[in-house]
Amino acid sequence: MARYNGPVCRLCRRDGLKLFLKGSRCDTPKCAIERRDVPPGMNQTRRAKLTDYGIHLREKQKLKHYFGVLERQFRGYFQRASRSKGNTGNTLLSLLERRLDNVVHRLGIGQSRAQARQMITHGHITVNGKYCNVPSYSLRVGDVIRVKNTAKSLQLAQANLSARRGSVPDFLSLVDGGIPEGHVMRLPDEHDFSLPVQTQLIVEMCSR
Ligand code: SF4
Repeated sequence: MARYNGPVCRLCRRDGLKLFLKGSRCDTPKCAIERRDVPPGMNQTRRAKLTDYGIHLREKQKLKHYFGVLERQFRGYFQRASRSKGNTGNTLLSLLERRLDNVVHRLGIGQSRAQARQMITHGHITVNGKYCNVPSYSLRVGDVIRVKNTAKSLQLAQANLSARRGSVPDFLSLVDGGIPEGHVMRLPDEHDFSLPVQTQLIVEMCSR
């Protein structure tokens, strides 16, 4: 499946759910869902009734769009989650939360996951003192994420941190000194995930 390149608010309006894909704009009255919560398209006033398959598919698509992962990558995460001990749905969320681009965003260093991904590929972020340009890098407990010590990187990160709304999740800690850095305190669990998603439906669909 090709990456979705259209207007991102369309995805939220299609599902009738805020997916927080546009950074700080999502928390303002300018959010398309806040202004007009109807499906995309002309003369749309109500959402079509979903089939059972549609309900399952929508939950999976929500998660994929939220983290910006494609179908193939998502399958890989699901396989890892289903091989591990414990609840598959919760492990899946934990694996996705541990992605470097997600953590950079949740620390407030990147306004959105898309911007965090771009900052990583452009070399603005280091992990444990080494450059890491892989947005999907899976972080472990004790890892240190730091902004590169250059004027451009620091300016970008500080601007995002000052515009940040909301708090840093419990599994991370942020040291916002001269050079912003984040620490992974523990592995994320289902309580650290903020989007309402029914993981059981995703597990049922992907297990078929
Ligand atoms: Fe979704 Fe954000 Fe657009 Fe609102 S502003 S519709 S939350 S992407």
